[in-house]
Amino acid sequence: MKCPKCQTDMKPVVIAGIEVDRCGGCGGLWFDAGEAPKLKMIHGSEAIDKGQAGMPGTTERPSPVSCPKCGTQMIQMVDLDQPHIHYEGCTVCYGMFFDAGEFRDYREHTLIERLKDWRSSASP
Ligand SMILES: [Zn+2]
Ligand SMILES: [Zn+2]
Repeated sequence: MKCPKCQTDMKPVVIAGIEVDRCGGCGGLWFDAGEAPKLKMIHGSEAIDKGQAGMPGTTERPSPVSCPKCGTQMIQMVDLDQPHIHYEGCTVCYGMFFDAGEFRDYREHTLIERLKDWRSSASP
C-alpha cells in the first residue's frame, strides 16, 4: 500500500494486536475502519506515531488525496472533540489517514479528558 500523501510504501505496524500502516517517508498513519477510535483507548498506542503532537506544518493540505485502499477521493474531517485536528477520511471504506503527530495529538486529549473525569468522579 502506498502513502496517499507522498507515495512511499507504507509498512504494517502491529500494536495491541491491531495492524495499522505507517509511511516510511512522511510518518503518516493509516487506520482501517474503526481502528483509530479503538486504538485511542489503548494505553501506549501513541508509540506508533513517530511525530510529535502539534508539529508545525502538519496541517497543510495541499491537494485532495485518494484512499490507498479503494481509490476514492478522501475528504477532510475534523475531530469533533478537537477541532484543530484535521485528518482524511474515506467515505467508502471508512479508513482514516493521520499525518505524523496527529494521532498522538488525538490520543493525548483522551488522557487529559480521562484525568478530568477521574477527578470529577473522585470528588464528592
Ligand atoms: Zn507518506
Ligand atoms: Zn477507501
